Amino acid sequence: MTLRLGCIADDFTGATDLANNLVRAGMRVVQLNGVPGAGAPPVEADVDAVVVALKSRTTLPADAVAQSLAACRFLKAGGASQIYFKVCSTFDSTPRGNIGPVLEALMDALDCAFTIATPAFPDNGRTVFKGHLFVGDVLLSESGMRNHPLTPMTDANLVRVLQAQLATRGDGGRAPRRVGLVDHRVVGASAAAIGERFASLAKGGVSIAIADAVANDDLLRLGAAVKDLPLVCAGSGLAIGLPANFGIAPSGTAAALPAVAGFQAIVSGSCSEATNAQVARFRDAGGAASRIDPLSLADGADGALVAGIVAWARAQWSKAPECPVLIYSTAAPQDVAAAQAKSGGRELGARLEGVLAAIARGLVAGGARRLIVAGGETSGACVQALGVARLRIGAQIDPGVPWCHAAPALAADGMHLALKSGNFGGVDFFERAFSVAT
Ligand code: ADP
Repeated sequence: MTLRLGCIADDFTGATDLANNLVRAGMRVVQLNGVPGAGAPPVEADVDAVVVALKSRTTLPADAVAQSLAACRFLKAGGASQIYFKVCSTFDSTPRGNIGPVLEALMDALDCAFTIATPAFPDNGRTVFKGHLFVGDVLLSESGMRNHPLTPMTDANLVRVLQAQLATRGDGGRAPRRVGLVDHRVVGASAAAIGERFASLAKGGVSIAIADAVANDDLLRLGAAVKDLPLVCAGSGLAIGLPANFGIAPSGTAAALPAVAGFQAIVSGSCSEATNAQVARFRDAGGAASRIDPLSLADGADGALVAGIVAWARAQWSKAPECPVLIYSTAAPQDVAAAQAKSGGRELGARLEGVLAAIARGLVAGGARRLIVAGGETSGACVQALGVARLRIGAQIDPGVPWCHAAPALAADGMHLALKSGNFGGVDFFERAFSVAT
């Protein structure tokens, strides 16, 4: 058994983002969708890190705590010597949680007196300076995140944001936890200086330190400094600084995936600007594409629609077996608004996710073995419909989007999956992805 790092991610695409960074830093990584049940196979021996993907970002705090503790127990039982609680790089949370309550529960479970929290990921424009989170050039509280429907972030001061989420009464003999700061001057100096700052903060009664980081070098120094902490809390950025603590250096072999043989397909339910451009590019280049128009969805006819599209895909493959097919409901904002006006946003979204997931199943049953899914929610629905419980993480196609290998019952010979959250990927993503070596 070689498992070293156990990761708990509070949402699905965030888990993949973290796994992708760990692979790029040289770790061999498996992502699990949820905490495996009692009968699940053990973690493979050739895996350095496991990322358990939860759906705990916006659930009730008690549920998020229970899920996270179950994941923590699983990872510790598998041999993990350090736990990484992965949160969003915009620190998505509310005054009731869930970052604070989960972090406190993990600290209790791991007997951890001091830890850090930093969502910094400079490569993605997330930097922390004097405890304040910037998204690109603006403070978090001035970014689009201030209007987020579930987790509006109206304060960029993470020391204050996290402190407000912690229990106000201590447990047993312990005082309530306090949040402090390791600022950029210390982080910019050396790992040893950061370690000294940890010690002095802990001595002064601080249990959790927000850590500044404005560049990758800061994350590398921070990574070295947290070597002996049983728990860290971060976005996916800190991942670049951890593998070295385990004697692991970047290497191409970490990303190697088992080969697969079969057809290629893309299923797209994202309506983001980036995905709209990617779909247009694929079509303009003459790719075989079939559009699902939500306005033409007839009551109770989803089964026939799915069967028709899968038959169309098979016909395309029999003409050109090496060419990918694209099935998409991706649409421009005015078309999305028109469809939502007719059917209601949530209801229509869930229905389209169901249709696209059933199509993904049909495509895989028909021999697709390399599948791209565009859209975070759409990816979740497809992964569930395909019965994918574990993914081995491979080479990155574009930042945050790796190829993965899975072998669900429907494709027991193995398949490659790329799960693209809406705004990720260059305009030629769909064409280029299939030529990335895996
Ligand atoms: P993203 O990662 O871009 O947010 P998601 O898959 O998470 O993509 O979310 C897109 C949502 O929009 C899904 O619920 C999907 O079913 C829905 N959707 C897809 N196509 C359309 C459409 N043409 N009109 C309205 N809603 C749509």
